[in-house]
Amino acid sequence: PEAAGEEGRRRRVAIVGAGLVGSLAAINFARMGNLVDLYEYREDIRQAVVVQGRSINLALSQRGRKALAAVGLEEKVLATAIPMRGRMLHDIRGNTSVVLYDPCTKQCLYSVGRRQLNEVLLDACDKLPNVRCHFEHKLTSANLREGSMEFRNVSKEVVAASADLIVGCDGAFSSVRQQLVRLPGFNYSQEYIETGYLELCIPSKSGDFQMPANYLHIWPRNSFMMIALPNQDKSFTVTLSMPFEVFAKIRTQNDLLDFFKLNFRDALPLIGEQQLLKDFFKTRPQHLVSIKCRPYHYADKALILGDAAHAMVPYYGQGMNAGMEDVTLLTGILGKQLPLDEALAQFTESRWQDAFAICDLAMYNYVEMRDLTKRWSFRIRKWLDTLLFRYFPGWIPLYNSVSFSSMPYAQCIANRKWQDQLLKRVTGATLLAAILAGGVVFAQRFI
Ligand code: FAD
Repeated sequence: PEAAGEEGRRRRVAIVGAGLVGSLAAINFARMGNLVDLYEYREDIRQAVVVQGRSINLALSQRGRKALAAVGLEEKVLATAIPMRGRMLHDIRGNTSVVLYDPCTKQCLYSVGRRQLNEVLLDACDKLPNVRCHFEHKLTSANLREGSMEFRNVSKEVVAASADLIVGCDGAFSSVRQQLVRLPGFNYSQEYIETGYLELCIPSKSGDFQMPANYLHIWPRNSFMMIALPNQDKSFTVTLSMPFEVFAKIRTQNDLLDFFKLNFRDALPLIGEQQLLKDFFKTRPQHLVSIKCRPYHYADKALILGDAAHAMVPYYGQGMNAGMEDVTLLTGILGKQLPLDEALAQFTESRWQDAFAICDLAMYNYVEMRDLTKRWSFRIRKWLDTLLFRYFPGWIPLYNSVSFSSMPYAQCIANRKWQDQLLKRVTGATLLAAILAGGVVFAQRFI
């Protein structure tokens, strides 16, 4: 790799957080010739104890795939991923129906284990001589102007470190962002939704999946819903999303079983009553937060990426994908060899509107998933979108543009707006024509 920095020296880059975005960012910064220190609060995930059937999985789509392909890891990740070709909807009586994501070009989402993906990325970091990983190092304070940081290690010792550039990939509750918030000109907002989520599991049975594997299963129930994604070990990770007040009403074992018998009749025997009782009451529902902020950088000293920059509710399956796309875009900008402060400013400028847009879209998709998917209007629109997508060049349905293309997120929204307007006009004109035609027929017969 070539030496980085305007002065031709190797820049020392500290990346805080070795999650999905941090480890990918480390690979990219290292490939550009920088000296990378990757600090992670938790232990090395590759050495962590496995909890069978509880691996959290994620939907990987185009933007994440593109970022992985850029560092030669896409094939490796897809080799163990499970394709999900559409949504399988479970109604209250236990009947199922399928809505394919992309009947035309047959693109699909991939269910990937968070842990496996993180391991692949960390293994790739290990192969680069200019990446040093420091696990069990929690960032406790930082001075962004001076590039100094303090970490607490596993023995509770304070470890001082410094870097030319500090990159915060430390998630929704980012400590690096906390430092940026103090700086003048930094805008920040966060919104907790009234909905919490809890993870359950549909285990494998006789070594096989208990439901068709190649779908994202959804039980839409108006104000709440449950989804399930397949795992490599043939189990499903189930996520129950409900308003906290609904969670609060389920106090006893009987409350829970009655609730599931009423709302998730077909899922109950698959999860198993005993397992459900154990898993449900073991943890509290988790909060979900959506965060918008900008700028993402401070001079040529600090930068935030991924959830640290734009945490979103998980209902578009785009949090990780968007975070990985940050890395793709940043790498492209850094490749232009601009002075670093200009490059980082360009990154903020080119990214914030799209990041805000996907936060909004994720909020919207929560309504779509829990409520709209079971409406006929949704199915008709989906059918119409598919038809137009097939025969009308330039017509890309919203879901496809978000999940199966790299169209900037803000443009995905703008695209949907003109499509809505056009359909409204066509529907209006068709209705008007029908009324007029009816009027003419009536006049001819009766007047
Ligand atoms: P994180 O994954 O949060 O990683 C941050 C890392 O920083 C962690 O390893 C953490 O230990 C470390 N860290 C934190 N603080 C410190 C510190 N002070 N010092 C050192 N290290 C620190 N996205 C999708 O694209 N598809 C999906 O299907 C999807 N499903 C989701 C389902 C749920 C229920 C949830 C909650 C999220 C989902 N997401 C999904 C979003 C996705 O999980 C996140 O967008 C993604 O994990 C962000 O990656 P990140 O590396 O930015 O942050």
